[in-house]
Amino acid sequence: MQIREIKVQSILTKTRLPIGGYAANPYVGCPHACKYCYASFMKRFTNHPEPWGEFLDVKFWPEIKQPAKYSGQEIFLSSVTDPYNPCEEQYKRTRALLLQLKDSGAKLTIQTKSDLILRDLDLLKNFQDVRVGFSINTLDENFKAVMDNAPSIARRINAMQTLYNSKIKTTCFISPIFPGITDVQAIINCVKNFCNLIWLEDLNLRGDFKYKILNFIRQNYAGLAPIYDEIYINKSRVYWDDLDDTMREFAAQNNFEYVRNQDDMSRPFNAPPRIVNYFYHKELLTK
Ligand code: SF4
Repeated sequence: MQIREIKVQSILTKTRLPIGGYAANPYVGCPHACKYCYASFMKRFTNHPEPWGEFLDVKFWPEIKQPAKYSGQEIFLSSVTDPYNPCEEQYKRTRALLLQLKDSGAKLTIQTKSDLILRDLDLLKNFQDVRVGFSINTLDENFKAVMDNAPSIARRINAMQTLYNSKIKTTCFISPIFPGITDVQAIINCVKNFCNLIWLEDLNLRGDFKYKILNFIRQNYAGLAPIYDEIYINKSRVYWDDLDDTMREFAAQNNFEYVRNQDDMSRPFNAPPRIVNYFYHKELLTK
């Protein structure tokens, strides 16, 4: 792992993500090295020749001068890295950002695959509006181990439960959904008692990793190869339309709300989770 410390002029940038507001990426690169990572395009922008997952730039920025300027604004951590990647344990750059924003009145959305976030529970409790999302696209630890270097699914689920029990809103981001592999209903059944939102996102294959993933499926899940070809070579949306119908039915049976491309944090904390389907949106979140 190539690690270097870099100075940047600011840590908050305006974002075009669906939730709007600002994005904060305390790092460039991500040691979690997910095989399907949408953020790997950052290699091109930052001139990193190393494989995705094998470099990390640690950002240092000037103290945020007027945190109150962000009052009521959405701030998203992070769009192209995991703010709680394992190097955060040493560098504490995400914690530094939380300290700078703690009296700002900003609305925080944090997306991670790591229970390292529990280290910052003391700070998170100070924010009036904070939501923590965990990316979980399988309950199979073996599949997870092949796909990423992040903490186990069990640790993510435990962390989600701990945060929820501390009255912090949680999201289960079921992404990316691997056709024929991700059991969406099983994941929802596992987390439904301690999460407020469930986001569903389809596996979107593009760029370098498209053929890597297709080859992986051919080698390890040969029976699923025709489905993947249909979706990713022939561009059929039938699988996603069918899953949309199935999930709508599942939601109705379980008394969950089911919506497309919407997000709303203003719900009673103890309400059953709302399922939000992002199969049809263009802009993608990366965790
Ligand atoms: S998907 Fe998220 S956690 Fe995985 S490598 Fe990319 S930024 Fe890191």
